[in-house]
Amino acid sequence: MPNDSTSVNINSGGVAQNTFDAIVIGSGISGGWAAKELCEKGLKTLVLERGRDVQHKKDYPTTLLNPWEMKHRGGRTKAMVEENPIASKCYAYDEATEHFFIKDKHHPYIQEKPFDWIRGYQVGGKSLIWARQTQRWSRFEFEAPARDGFAIDWPIRYDDLAPWYSYVEKFAGISGNKDGLETLPDGEFLPPWEMNCPEKHIQSKIHSKFPGRTVIQGRCAHLTQPNPVHLEQGRGQCQARNICYRGCPFGGYFSSNSSTLPWAANTGNLTIRPHAVVHSIIYDEQKQKAVGVRVIDANTHEATEYFAKIIFVNAACLNSNLILLNSTSNRFPNGLGNDNGLMGKYIAFHDYRGNITAGIEGFDDIEEYGRRPTAAMMPNFRNVRKQEMDFLRGYMVHYSCSRVNWHNSDGAEGIGEGFKDFASLPGGWGVFMMMQGETIPQEKNHVRLSKDQKDEWGVPLLITSVDYGENDNKILKDFLEQGVAMLEAAGCKNINPFDNGRVPGNDIHEMGGVRMGNDPKTSLLNKWNQLHHCSNVFVTDGASMVSTGTQNPSLTYMALTARAANHAVEELKKGNL
Ligand SMILES: Cc1cc2nc3c(=O)[nH]c(=O)nc-3n(C[C@H](O)[C@H](O)[C@H](O)COP(=O)(O)OP(=O)(O)OC[C@H]3O[C@@H](n4cnc5c(N)ncnc54)[C@H](O)[C@@H]3O)c2cc1C
Ligand code: SF4
Repeated sequence: MPNDSTSVNINSGGVAQNTFDAIVIGSGISGGWAAKELCEKGLKTLVLERGRDVQHKKDYPTTLLNPWEMKHRGGRTKAMVEENPIASKCYAYDEATEHFFIKDKHHPYIQEKPFDWIRGYQVGGKSLIWARQTQRWSRFEFEAPARDGFAIDWPIRYDDLAPWYSYVEKFAGISGNKDGLETLPDGEFLPPWEMNCPEKHIQSKIHSKFPGRTVIQGRCAHLTQPNPVHLEQGRGQCQARNICYRGCPFGGYFSSNSSTLPWAANTGNLTIRPHAVVHSIIYDEQKQKAVGVRVIDANTHEATEYFAKIIFVNAACLNSNLILLNSTSNRFPNGLGNDNGLMGKYIAFHDYRGNITAGIEGFDDIEEYGRRPTAAMMPNFRNVRKQEMDFLRGYMVHYSCSRVNWHNSDGAEGIGEGFKDFASLPGGWGVFMMMQGETIPQEKNHVRLSKDQKDEWGVPLLITSVDYGENDNKILKDFLEQGVAMLEAAGCKNINPFDNGRVPGNDIHEMGGVRMGNDPKTSLLNKWNQLHHCSNVFVTDGASMVSTGTQNPSLTYMALTARAANHAVEELKKGNL
């Protein structure tokens, strides 16, 4: 069905009743931030969320369960894997968390090339199940595409975003050290977690034998020491349980449910409508702007329209692409704002294929207590200041050391007393190292809409056509070689580098398709995340990214969203939207 307002003939529920100042599509990490900012600035804001409601604390059914209180001890059964072959490939999916992941069979898409699309459809989106690793971009990531000649130039630089990083960090609560690195700028940190002894040992060996490479403690969205603004949100200190994916009753980590959404609700300006599948955005040819959103009720399939002066699209990268591509009208037959035909193209992601396991001796007299929710990490050291390798860009390295779990080690056989005695002893120390590689946005890596297949809500199925390239293979090879060299230098034993064979998507850092840029011929959004050709629509999730950097992306989405929302309010006040 065409989506221009002239052709609308469905339940509008009374235009006045369904009219708000702002609509936000999606209630995850970025949508939560849009809602908070817009509500705080006094805008009556409607958040449309396709999934069910999830109330902080009340709807975390497994958060206090011990393994023995769950039928399968919190594990993953064959039936779960068979029923959810894609979602169950995510490491965080298990008996204690499966309710925060979609059921694959209800949400089909077409994989032209293998792509594991991991989704959490509920109020809070993936903010409930993310791993909370948060690093700022540096100036090098924003400058890279123009300098190295790929993608297009970012329309903003680090200095444009730095104040907004500070703004979101203070509210969300980010723990970390002030490391003074140009490649990974410091933020507004709460106290850091501490590395354990073998991690520090590896760190010191890398520092002494590999000049220019710096290992730091991971920065993450956990309240190691809450500030008044966190207590005001009703959140408390993190207890180092590291079972956060179940939802945290302490609000120890940042999620939309514990932080931005209740804050927005407290203003009295927020309305959240769960079970609201956004079908498309309605464009008014006369007004030459978007006037509202068409929604299909997830349960009844009834169509409703909601209206607002500004619309924030925060459905997570690929769903934001889908909604915009499906928002067709006479003016925009190929998708809202898609005059250049580039919407859905230049999808990029992070390459997580490289893993290394090893053992490390000499620390068997050391025990560790509690469970830290982060690990040691090393910012990218390849091609930072100039192009120096035979590949573009580089990779971040994460590593952690822990006592090897008894059930993974040799000798854990048999039953009875001997087995129990064995199981109660800690094993030796093991090392796990992984890469987070930048991928280069390429036009051929794209998503598009199926012309003949739709889901049960009448929305065309998304076709994913995204793959690794030669550059990614070179980066993978370099990481495996360098990782082995660094672990050898630290005296590790039984070093085992491997390609884990993950397909794109499983990184859950998909980006692009509606990229920012200064030139409307080569980009979809301007430097404020507004569609060039429909300026009252803002896209501030991963879809807006020009390139991926090597950093975990969500902190950047938060900063972009807060910046864009404040700009939107200023423009509204000036009468420009
Ligand atoms: C296991 C795991 C670990 C991760 N670890 C990290 C990490 O350590 N660091 C990091 O930076 N990132 C991490 N991520 C990624 C992070 O979760 C995402 O980057 C982030 O959630 C993206 O925010 P978003 O607002 O774009 O999307 P989401 O948080 O996914 O929210 C999108 C929302 O939009 C809703 N929606 C979608 N389509 C529609 C529609 N048509 N109509 C209405 N609503 C719709 C969805 O239901 C969802 O609630 C991880 C993700 C997972 C799953
Ligand atoms: S580790 Fe911290 S954030 Fe995670 S569940 Fe425990 S208290 Fe909550």
